[in-house]
Amino acid sequence: MTRIVRTVAELRQQVRAWKAASEQVGLIPTMGALHDGHLSLIRLAQTKVARTVASVFVNPKQFAPHEDFDAYPRGEARDAELLETVGCDLLFAPNGAEMYPEGFATSINLTGVSEPLEGAARPQFFGGVATVVTKLLIQAEPDIAVFGEKDYQQLQVIRRVTRDLDLPVEIVGAPTARAEDGLALSSRNAYLSPEERAAAVALPNAMKAAIASVQAGERVEAAEAAGKAALAAAGFRQVDYFDFRDADDLSRLGPDALNGAKARLLVAAWLGKTRLIDNMGV
Ligand code: AMP
Repeated sequence: MTRIVRTVAELRQQVRAWKAASEQVGLIPTMGALHDGHLSLIRLAQTKVARTVASVFVNPKQFAPHEDFDAYPRGEARDAELLETVGCDLLFAPNGAEMYPEGFATSINLTGVSEPLEGAARPQFFGGVATVVTKLLIQAEPDIAVFGEKDYQQLQVIRRVTRDLDLPVEIVGAPTARAEDGLALSSRNAYLSPEERAAAVALPNAMKAAIASVQAGERVEAAEAAGKAALAAAGFRQVDYFDFRDADDLSRLGPDALNGAKARLLVAAWLGKTRLIDNMGV
């Protein structure tokens, strides 16, 4: 049975008991509304450590006031059932007051890799993510923590934070789980109408086409422009970015070619009221 705990004290007691029995522990932080992408992170953790802890907390600090905090899908009973099917050992499901008690006044400030892309589109996002993830890592004291490449910039930010703050944990990145048509699985896909869901396949398709065209020698800027045009033609109402970037620090690439740099294509675009993000290696 996947045991559910709601307090840091219970979480630590369980994790410390496992460690005392020489069992390594993996943490998989989530915001719930679990899908196969989340479950793939737990399965990956299970290949590396004996015990897995999933956290489910819809973190208010990473949403701006106009964003979808209230609408974000929630369903603890279903989440717990899914965790049970993959043999996750513990679900940590704190409430808001457990994470941010009255008077909470501390946050993590970031520069560098957090600044472009999602950082530019959502100015308070990574500060909120870094604050809650740092808390979760200190609360759970895991040996490893698994994060999805689906949120590639977030993964790079968390790697940076754990290095900068000397947090004693190994950060593991997991490949993006996709639906059969190629759309990355996401809790926010639940917002899409059937028509929008059908149109959404244009996102991974435009990305694959852009990667193929730069690999065939097309200029980066031209491939980015063609990708944005393809999304507009498929009914996306706004593209926040469709950028080839350095895969490590997410800085801009030279205009003409990939120049042998390790590159990543990162995209955020709006389909109706839903903002979809995706990324692929080049
Ligand atoms: P979220 O609940 O959306 O905050 O995501 C929790 C964790 O699951 C993050 O590390 C995400 O990157 C990861 N994740 C979300 N969707 C996917 C996916 N389709 N494939 C792999 N990992 C994912």
